[in-house]
Amino acid sequence: MDEKQIICSSCHKRLTNKQGAAKFMCPNCGKAEIIRCKHCREIAAEYKCPECGFTGPN
Ligand SMILES: [Zn+2]
Ligand SMILES: [Zn+2]
Repeated sequence: MDEKQIICSSCHKRLTNKQGAAKFMCPNCGKAEIIRCKHCREIAAEYKCPECGFTGPN
C-alpha cells in the first residue's frame, strides 16, 4: 500500500479523484480529519466526525 485511502466522511465512498474535495479538521474537536468529496459538497451532504460525533456542515 503506497497510497492512503481517502474516504469521504459523508458518503463513505473512496475518493479516486481528489479534485474538488475538501479536507479539514473537525470544527468541534479538532482531532479528526473530515473529508468531503466534490459531490457531497455540491449537495451539502451531512458529515459526521468519527471522534466526537459532531455533524455538519453547520
Ligand atoms: Zn461524498
Ligand atoms: Zn470532532
